[in-house]
Amino acid sequence: MPDNPLQAPEAGATPTMAQWFTLKAQAPDALLFLRMGDFYELFFDDAVAAAAALDIALSRRGEHQGTPIPMCGVPAHAAEAYLARLIRRGFRVAVAEQMEKPGPKPGRAPLRRELVRLGTPGTLTEDSLLEPHRPNLLLALACVQDRWGAAWVDVSTGLFQTAPVALADLQALLGRLEPAEIVAPASAPLGDHAPRRAPDTLPPSPAAARTRVAEVFAVASLDAFGEFSAAELVAAAQCIEYASAAGAGRLPRLSRPEPASLGGQMALDAATRASLEITRARDGGTAHTLLAAIDRTLTAPGARLLAQWLAGPLLDPAAIAARQDGWAWLLLQPEPLARLRSALRATPDLPRALGRLALGRAAPRDLGAVRTTLEAAADADLALAHAPMPPCLQGVDPAVAPLLARALADPLPARLDDGGVIAPGYDGELDAHRALRDDSRRVVAALALDFAQRYGVASLKIRHHAQLGYVIEAPTAAAERLREHPGLTLRQSTATAARFGNAELADLDRRITDAADAAAARERLVWQHLVDTVLAAGPTLQSCADRLASLDVLQAAARLAEGGRWTRPVITQGTEFHIAQGRHPVVEAALGTAAAFMPNACDLSPNRALLLLTGPNMAGKSTYLRQNALIAILAQAGLPVPAGRAKIGIVDRLFSRVGAADDLARGRSTFMVEMTETAAILNQAGPRSLVIVDEIGRGTGTLDGLAIAWAVLEALHAMRARTLFATHFHELARLAPALPRLRPHTMRVKEHRGSVVFLHEVAEGAAGRSWGVHVAGLAGVPSPTVRRAAALLAALERQRGGLGADLPLFADLPTEAEFHQHEPHLPEAHPHEPRPYEPRPPEPRPPEPRPPEPRPPEAHLPAPDPLHQAVAAIEPDRLSPREALDLIYRLRELLTVSTAETSLD
Ligand code: ATP
Repeated sequence: MPDNPLQAPEAGATPTMAQWFTLKAQAPDALLFLRMGDFYELFFDDAVAAAAALDIALSRRGEHQGTPIPMCGVPAHAAEAYLARLIRRGFRVAVAEQMEKPGPKPGRAPLRRELVRLGTPGTLTEDSLLEPHRPNLLLALACVQDRWGAAWVDVSTGLFQTAPVALADLQALLGRLEPAEIVAPASAPLGDHAPRRAPDTLPPSPAAARTRVAEVFAVASLDAFGEFSAAELVAAAQCIEYASAAGAGRLPRLSRPEPASLGGQMALDAATRASLEITRARDGGTAHTLLAAIDRTLTAPGARLLAQWLAGPLLDPAAIAARQDGWAWLLLQPEPLARLRSALRATPDLPRALGRLALGRAAPRDLGAVRTTLEAAADADLALAHAPMPPCLQGVDPAVAPLLARALADPLPARLDDGGVIAPGYDGELDAHRALRDDSRRVVAALALDFAQRYGVASLKIRHHAQLGYVIEAPTAAAERLREHPGLTLRQSTATAARFGNAELADLDRRITDAADAAAARERLVWQHLVDTVLAAGPTLQSCADRLASLDVLQAAARLAEGGRWTRPVITQGTEFHIAQGRHPVVEAALGTAAAFMPNACDLSPNRALLLLTGPNMAGKSTYLRQNALIAILAQAGLPVPAGRAKIGIVDRLFSRVGAADDLARGRSTFMVEMTETAAILNQAGPRSLVIVDEIGRGTGTLDGLAIAWAVLEALHAMRARTLFATHFHELARLAPALPRLRPHTMRVKEHRGSVVFLHEVAEGAAGRSWGVHVAGLAGVPSPTVRRAAALLAALERQRGGLGADLPLFADLPTEAEFHQHEPHLPEAHPHEPRPYEPRPPEPRPPEPRPPEPRPPEAHLPAPDPLHQAVAAIEPDRLSPREALDLIYRLRELLTVSTAETSLD
């Protein structure tokens, strides 16, 4: 845009450009798509940005204030795809439509254009812009008198919920909901979700917010909907305002706001969700997630509900049992289950269709979706006539289904403008207009016969011409005869034919066009009546859709449980954690054949609540840790678990610190991330929590790392949290006598011809060594480097007598009372003030004489001597002369490595 401070930007604009400036001022943060005939056009900086983002040509259109105006455009019929690309790339898009038909206009006034919608990530409704299996949430945060509240809506389905939220829990809430867009004051710490912040809006006062929400739902008081804090109401009102601004003042269809009781769900912080890849993988994708591995739903609303169940596992055993009862009942009724599945297969995405109908963005197939859903719901009810579940059609106006069955054509056209949406026979007036419009062929044929006789030209024809309308067309040779007739007017002549008009043709033209217009207008009227009828039944249709979605999740759960490899866990109010034959659903699926996965048990009973796991790299430690956390999530989501048997005392908080990742964007190194997550665990975990910790202390020096891992292990033991703790510091297993609830376990491996075979089996005991050098070899590190590393390792181990041999295993162990006094770490506390217990790394000490520790059986595995092994493996009778020579060279090489070891000693 020209940048002259003395001139208003719109000064001197042409009428169309002046209109552009007016519309742009209504949505300054958005790219303005201005409808111009068959195209949407973008101008000025919008054009530059859009052309670059869409990779389309940037051209010019006239001048403004002496500078050419950059312009680009996209065809209107393909606009949705372009909108989708821009919105996915983080742009907001405003769409201005022509509000009148082109025609003769006085002066140079442009056609009236108005903003009809604002496309923002959190307010989308089009299937092409949405992920079918994910909700698309707009979340608002508000703070009133230091108390925060959140509200979130899914404009595409009508979902509307609110919750009070403490700032400390904000990341967990954002992690659970994954909102597409967030309306929040600048003071709200959005963390990783900051890029989804919407432009600032002014929050209403709590009183104005309450009035606005009540007004939208046409109630005098909101009390009937539940209790809302002032901050929740302000956030709710902001959601409403933002969504209606996006619809250019048109309010989306929203369910009544529902206070979401976050207290009833397992707490999972953002790091835990990310590390367990529940609904999103670390790379942001959805493949290789827990959700993808278990999703057997047949409908999009069912898939979204399953994602919701996984994202918020329950804490109430009765609520969990109710879900379990649902799928367990289905499992025992194969015939109704099969009929239910075939009904669900035919079920479209009703909530999203209703969303588009309410916003006036619907296509005929959206009303079709209502019709088909009601048919499917009737089938589902028939299938489940004896089920303990409530019927799907409960409360739905029984007139709606037959009305749509009669009124809608089958098949339906893609667009309302294509005509043919309303079935013949439904509306008499529409049928009459259509008859006249469609009868034209017969009328024209009769007229042509009549004219041929009247004018004595057998070869004349009646044709429809785009510009001239209906005309008589005759070959040039016969045209002379027609020219003589006073009733005929020559409209056009070419080298081969001449075209004439007369009063009858003009009348026919008008009648046919009028009939087509009248049919289209009448069809719109009938359509709108149907839409209004459906929207009036919206709440009951929504509950019908909700029931179908629940049935879909239950049948999906039953599908998992079919075959007996996934089972119903026993959920108790206690603190037990017993898994028999547990498996990791995602790794198992990736391995292809179920038999390839080695199941493992896990027992974290109160007297053995801390499971310390050691073992080689690649042996399956992280898999084992994660599988137990995922089993807890599945169990409390009310779903079957991948285990032979499971008994789980409700887990109130789940912490997972598995695998290190740095966060350079936020200036945190790998080690810093690791320690921040560890701090969160130590500050929040309690006896009902489940904690899984992998490789703590790996991001720093060996001794620092060992010391930290050790201290954290002691702290977790004192907290009595059910804990799985995997570490490469196998020396920590020797803490077992001092920590009575600690149970060392190891991943079993077999040594075969000098290399490791992973058995992926968890057994009681401790690993004697790390096998890192072997895994480096497996990973393709060049063999001279691997051999050198093996030699150095052997030498280092001989020198030190093993790490930890001289460490204060039992000295200075804090008492349990000290652990229980432990308060969250407050960084601002004065360094000289007395402080509560903080886990303390052991001081390095001079070696103390101590009796040798009994080593677990794995510790006796001899360090393989490559030279010795190579000689032992020789089969002289099988060697060719050439192989024998090669072997001599190889033995020489091994001898050199041995010598290197000796020199290190
Ligand atoms: P590292 O210490 O290097 O992180 P790890 O011990 O944590 O390794 P995992 O990452 O859990 O090992 O597992 C490595 C691979 O082993 C997995 O990708 C999977 O292919 C396989 N694996 C793990 N557990 C099992 C199992 N129980 N049955 C079969 N294969 C398994």
